[in-house]
Amino acid sequence: MINFNQPHLTGKEAHYMYEAVYTCKLSGNGTFTKRCQAWFEQRYGFRKTLLTSSGTDALEMCAMLCNLQPGDEVIVPSYTFVSTALAFLREGAKVVFADSMQRNPNIDAETLEALITPRTRVIVPVHYAGIACDMDAIMAVAKKHNLLVVEDAAQAIDSYYKSPISNIQYPMPLGSIGHLAAFSFHETKNITAGGEGGMLVVNDERFVRRAEIIWEKGTNRAEFFRGEVNKYGWVDLGSSFLPSEVNAAFLWAQLENLDTIQAKRKKLWETYLKRLKPLSEKGYFSLPDIPDYATNNAHMFYLVLPSLEERTAFIKYLKDNGVGAVFHYLSLHSSEYYKSRHDGRELPNCDRYADCLVRLPLFYDLTIEQVHLICDLIHAYYH
Ligand SMILES: *Cc1c(COP(=O)(O)O)cnc(C)c1O
Repeated sequence: MINFNQPHLTGKEAHYMYEAVYTCKLSGNGTFTKRCQAWFEQRYGFRKTLLTSSGTDALEMCAMLCNLQPGDEVIVPSYTFVSTALAFLREGAKVVFADSMQRNPNIDAETLEALITPRTRVIVPVHYAGIACDMDAIMAVAKKHNLLVVEDAAQAIDSYYKSPISNIQYPMPLGSIGHLAAFSFHETKNITAGGEGGMLVVNDERFVRRAEIIWEKGTNRAEFFRGEVNKYGWVDLGSSFLPSEVNAAFLWAQLENLDTIQAKRKKLWETYLKRLKPLSEKGYFSLPDIPDYATNNAHMFYLVLPSLEERTAFIKYLKDNGVGAVFHYLSLHSSEYYKSRHDGRELPNCDRYADCLVRLPLFYDLTIEQVHLICDLIHAYYH
């Protein structure tokens, strides 16, 4: 059986976790946490990063930092993981769901203006499959209406936006463009912090101080440890968002090997593309779409089939032949929890991806031979 996903060990994880234990500092914000954060800030130019226990936690911190009032509205794509919407709902906001583009599952920037009301505060682009959203268009709408932009970059590690039309320096790392951003290090992502993990990115200086306070249970503990205040106390809302050093140590081993991990994933991805292109040209399915302004971080290889029925049969065929392919994201606007709250607008592109998109196995320890085997099976299916 070829599983859909399998977590990868670089070999140094246990070593660093052991080191964390033996330095007798296991709680959060220790050596490994600081090392990981500095690495991200240097490599990607993020203004400030804070590791979190999950991508969901990082999104919740973003939502808290937006300082939403009851009735404030947040625009979120309907084709995304629950956490993207949940983080803002928990802050009392109203979530307004946007449709995907026709060409790929990312939020359709052209539909945004029509969704904006005097109560709109935030837009949350999700870089689906690590492929950049149309950030120039989204940032322009946000600027015009004075909105915050929170990038859900959960899948977007080491991916870039490279539109040539703006005078900002390109390519820009995803997560560095919005005011705030959230990454995930869940075991299904390109790198993991030992199963669960995430990171908040603060690009807008205005949010840096409060982010640290929210991270550390509403206290100014971080300032105290830097010697900026002589005692620390309760100064704001917050929670316990920081991960243990054991998770940061695990993540550090993965960061050291990020380039190797990315190179292998891209090779697997390219092999899928080369092998499956002829079938896509015959019209059996469509392949991942990468706009000119986006790079590919090989987070995911997906196909879009013509119908739900065809997808169901396709997934069953692969499963019967020992390959774990999966679908995901049921439209959030028609979910059991949200459908009665949704305003009734149809989101046809979102529904199409929910019905027709299928993800093929893609993980570091998958071999090129296994990708060929999977592609052989797919060729045989359409023969
Ligand atoms: C994985 C993911 C999340 C949640 O991250 P966790 O670390 O699992 O909490 C949020 N949004 C998107 C788009 C994701 O893919």
